[in-house]
Amino acid sequence: MSEISEAQRLQILHNLVAIPSVNDHEVQVAQYLKKLLADHGITSKILPVSGDRANLVAEIGSGQPVLAVSGHMDVVDPGDKRQWDSDPFALTERQGKLFGRGATDMKSGLAALVIAMIELHAQGQPQHGTIRLLATMGEEIGELGSKQLLDDGYMKDAAALLIGEPTGWYVAHAHKGSMDIRFTSHGRAAHSSMPEDGFNAIDPLLQLLQDGNHLFREMNTKTNELLGPLTFNTTIISGGHQVNSIPDLATAEVNVRTIPEQNNDRVEKELKRLVAIQKESGAQIDMDVYMSQPSRAVKGDSRLADLAAKLGQQASGKELKRGGIPPVTDASNLLAGKGPGFPFIVFGPGNATAHQVNEFVPKDMYLQFCDLYPQLFTAFLSPEK
Ligand SMILES: [Zn+2]
Repeated sequence: MSEISEAQRLQILHNLVAIPSVNDHEVQVAQYLKKLLADHGITSKILPVSGDRANLVAEIGSGQPVLAVSGHMDVVDPGDKRQWDSDPFALTERQGKLFGRGATDMKSGLAALVIAMIELHAQGQPQHGTIRLLATMGEEIGELGSKQLLDDGYMKDAAALLIGEPTGWYVAHAHKGSMDIRFTSHGRAAHSSMPEDGFNAIDPLLQLLQDGNHLFREMNTKTNELLGPLTFNTTIISGGHQVNSIPDLATAEVNVRTIPEQNNDRVEKELKRLVAIQKESGAQIDMDVYMSQPSRAVKGDSRLADLAAKLGQQASGKELKRGGIPPVTDASNLLAGKGPGFPFIVFGPGNATAHQVNEFVPKDMYLQFCDLYPQLFTAFLSPEK
């Protein structure tokens, strides 16, 4: 007998999707989860971050080892709702698929983690060790929530980490890092008939971005066996305001997806060097790395990964591949100070519809993860024979 029926499992996901925690208001998700957990005898703590934003931490069991399991409570903007076939904040079933913002990324994973806690607690599990749920705010932009949990010491005694981001039937043990960088080029305005009186802010900025493309694309030979190559892209550019004036200001923003072989520090150093080259020719360019999350890669044959692959195969009927995924997760923060031997996986229900219109999770897969997580957590925590 399950503590929570299939109908209730679907209702919980429905309720989570109905909370529009679009890069904000995670405290409402936390309050909902706190009540749900309390209804089943599990105490939890809401840890305020700022305004309407908070993390939530809950534990079952006691002592070592501590298995940390984590999911984020925020979602990305659904965009133009008219492009959706149904209301993004009303979980809607069509042909075995559950549609809604966060259905895949990652309210289904979060719901399955919470349901696993409740099921295990009702069975008097775990009898050995602790399961610590870390529900985070702000994962989609800046990963502030996981940074706070790290700083508050919630990973210090953790023996392993599972993040329930949507991988589907795939066990990830590596992901790329990410950097957001703003370049601001200052020039001197002049009438375009007398450009010699001014300094064009756009020219050196364009050169810098070209140099970046050259360095990180054409010249780049480094690649990670799990993650592939680093990627470098200018994503925003603006400058000037009148066609017959020499522009005195131009800005560009760049997103870099890093790999262990070319980490964030290395990229920052290289870009500083490219900025210095422009400065030598009289340009004034400021560089601001306003977001920087490192890549993570641990070995893929940890006990946690082996158990996930085995249980995933039993549930799905197919052999699970293991490897890397491109997107950053809260592990960029949570794994700080842990080595490549630390058991870490990203493993949760969902698919590649994250951040898209008509995002969905297969209903079967969501329910299968609700059953799989409790087995995985107890198997990992039970002493090795
Ligand atoms: Zn996510």
